Amino acid sequence: MSERPIDVRSDTVTRPDAAMRRAMCEAEVGDDVYGDDPTVNRLQAVAAERLGHEAALFLPTGTQSNLVALLTHCARGDEYIVGHDAHTYKYEGGGAAALGGIQPQTVPFDADGGLAVEAVAAVVKEDDPHFARTRLVCLENSQHGRVQALDGIRAMRRFTRERGLALHLDGARMANACAHLGIDLEPMGCEFDSVSLCLSKGLGAPVGSVLAGSRPFIDEARRWRKVAGGGMRQAGILAAAGLLALDDGFARLHEDHENAERLAEALGGIDGVAVRDGWTQTNMVWLDFADAGLAPRSGREAGEHADVRVGATLVAFARGRGVLLSSSPDHARLVTHRDVSRRDIARVAAVVREHVDLSASGARAARA
Ligand SMILES: *Cc1c(COP(=O)(O)O)cnc(C)c1O
Repeated sequence: MSERPIDVRSDTVTRPDAAMRRAMCEAEVGDDVYGDDPTVNRLQAVAAERLGHEAALFLPTGTQSNLVALLTHCARGDEYIVGHDAHTYKYEGGGAAALGGIQPQTVPFDADGGLAVEAVAAVVKEDDPHFARTRLVCLENSQHGRVQALDGIRAMRRFTRERGLALHLDGARMANACAHLGIDLEPMGCEFDSVSLCLSKGLGAPVGSVLAGSRPFIDEARRWRKVAGGGMRQAGILAAAGLLALDDGFARLHEDHENAERLAEALGGIDGVAVRDGWTQTNMVWLDFADAGLAPRSGREAGEHADVRVGATLVAFARGRGVLLSSSPDHARLVTHRDVSRRDIARVAAVVREHVDLSASGARAARA
């Protein structure tokens, strides 16, 4: 297949378009460690304003942005409260603990990916030398593509204020959450003491995240960014892409959400594929194959056909048909983005359908 494959593994795979490459090419630059890069400075000023904060900082990745936020809020022996499946806790190599001596206290996410105030309240520690010092609560929005609405966030904001805790948002995909809610970034961003936003996902920049907060918070975060190795030099080349991502990238996210909706609908019509109900609020579609009824559930029932669950072989099959996706044996996450068109959506659905149908007839034949 000579055409570029359709890639729905993640929205991180987007490539800068011609306008973005031109802006990068023409960016005015300086040494950002000296604070001399005008394009980085402009991005930081724009991001701060958009996110409803005094100041912002440009960082190479969302992981470093969250890490720097945690290092700025918390000291060694402090703890932060976080969802059990949150990115900062589970998908960032334990960075807060490994590099900051910051203990995570997990709380199960709600069914919709939020944290209940009561659940958080139950794990806040008293001031007692037996305990780590609770300093921070960290939310994630969107969480696996699901959106936390403003009222729940505000309830958590009131709680953290009462208890003297800081509140951080891992808003890697908060632009998708805000697009879903039909609001700007500011009404959500301003509810937090610090906000991290990825420019390199659905917003379409090749590299970069921004962290926003108060001026003193960002001054301290700049120190930690340097410590973490994130002080870049002529980073304006990247910030130029970030500026377009914040504007044009944000403005078109609803297209990705509509495409995800279409994809969910098309996949929902396939026998043996369960689309997770209510999870497609932004640009993600989650599928479960375990209940497909196509394949035996357990090894014992299954005998030698234990691995016929469709997800196990879907990735290789789809790749052969020009579709890149990620799947485990029993579930898959498909992500739409600016490089996936409406036509591509139909193609992805057709490839999944073809694989499921072939697997079903294969399973029937094996049982017969
Ligand atoms: C992608 C992501 C990050 C940061 O990822 P990087 O790949 O380091 O930019 C943080 N949190 C969430 C929820 C994410 O999806």
